[in-house]
Amino acid sequence: MDKKKAEYHRKRLLAKQEELLRLVSKSEQDGRHVDEEITQDIADNAANSYTKEFLFHQSDDNRRILQLVNEALDRIKSGEFGVCAACQEEVQQKRLEAVPWARHCIECQEKQEQGLL
Ligand SMILES: [Zn+2]
Repeated sequence: MDKKKAEYHRKRLLAKQEELLRLVSKSEQDGRHVDEEITQDIADNAANSYTKEFLFHQSDDNRRILQLVNEALDRIKSGEFGVCAACQEEVQQKRLEAVPWARHCIECQEKQEQGLL
C-alpha cells in the first residue's frame, strides 16, 4: 500500500480509536452507576441487571474493536497494513473503506463467517 493511502487509513483509525476509548470509559462509568442504583433500590434489581448486562456487552464489543484498531495501527507502522492475514493478498480498498481495522479480505472474511477458515 502506498504511503498516502496508509496515512489516510491511519487517520481514520486514530479517530476511531479515540471514539472507542471514550465509549469504553463511558460505559465503565455507566456500569458503576448502575451498581449504585442496584444497592439503592432492590425492587428494580431485575431491570438494572439487564441494563448492566447490556452495557457490559456493548463495552465488550467496543473493547474488541478497539483491540483490532490498535492492531491495525501496529500493522501500519510495520508496513503490513492492508494485507489479508489469511491469504496474504491485498485487502480490497472498499473493504478497508468500510472497516479499516479489517484483518481479512472479503473472501476470507466470508469463509471465516461460514466457519471454513
Ligand atoms: Zn484473504
